[in-house]
Amino acid sequence: MNILIAGGAGFIGSNLAEYLIKKRHKVIVLDNLITGSLENLSNFSKKIKFINQDITKSFKIKENIDLILHLASPASVKCFYKYPLEIIKANSFGTYNLLELARNKSSIFLFASTSEVYGDPKEHPQGENYFGNVNPAGIRSVYDEAKRFGETLTLAYFRKFNLNVKIIRIFNTYGPRMQKDDGRVIPTFINQALKGEPITIYGDGTQTRSFCYIKDLIEGIYKLIFCDYHLPVNLGNFQELSILKLIEIIKKITNSKSGIIYKDLPTDDPKRRRPDLKLAKKILNWEPIIPIEEGLKETIKWFNNRRL
Ligand code: UDP
Repeated sequence: MNILIAGGAGFIGSNLAEYLIKKRHKVIVLDNLITGSLENLSNFSKKIKFINQDITKSFKIKENIDLILHLASPASVKCFYKYPLEIIKANSFGTYNLLELARNKSSIFLFASTSEVYGDPKEHPQGENYFGNVNPAGIRSVYDEAKRFGETLTLAYFRKFNLNVKIIRIFNTYGPRMQKDDGRVIPTFINQALKGEPITIYGDGTQTRSFCYIKDLIEGIYKLIFCDYHLPVNLGNFQELSILKLIEIIKKITNSKSGIIYKDLPTDDPKRRRPDLKLAKKILNWEPIIPIEEGLKETIKWFNNRRL
């Protein structure tokens, strides 16, 4: 297939690009490098076509395209403060431009949504039928509402034009090529542990997340591409961990003597998050299989190598 990955120089996009090349697909990466980087593509840059493009502006692609993957959006909590308008535009104008391109090229379109559409959830675990608990005027709403809008727009193209769309709701995913300083919990803790610096807990550390290793996520995405299903599908990991437990595991693997400092919990920080993965299991026959210890070891190795 000819595949266009918007946001293909980012953490998830670049891992996906590498995987798709190995599956012998032709890959075009579109990225404006706002949070992605060319370094993420360096291992396989000769095997792809890279176009430096802001998807919120109009653009043309001359090649035939069979599949468009929309992974172009800043996504960390730090970015909610730094790039609020870029996030809103990437998921609204950007989604619109890519959907029009998909219509024009008769290609499959996949929109990368997020567990953030569930906000600070009142249902646990979160199934796709849960409508969420999002504060529309809160600091996280630039991301949460933009992704909710992106889902709505994508489904409007499905309902009006019968476009072959897919929507994934990605739960906290980690692995090589995460940015070390974008404030996300796993790269932050790994780098603090490796340097022997104090580990920064926001709140009391009892809040939970369910962390999915990037390889598992990508297998799930690949299966969904070929599945005749158009509504949102959760992709993530079942195992729910407190932030305190995550520190314990990272300190053990890194053999770190780092202490702990407590900081204020960010506004609207979800207290618990765990995906209900029954739908993914049923329609994709997919489940995450990589244990957190194994995924963290790989991720730590990657960050460690980059320090040298
Ligand atoms: N967190 C923390 N210390 C940090 C960074 C994050 O305790 O240095 C917490 C954060 O408050 C949240 C969890 O870790 O409860 C996951 O944060 P992240 O920004 O990685 O993802 P998200 O909140 O979007 O799930």
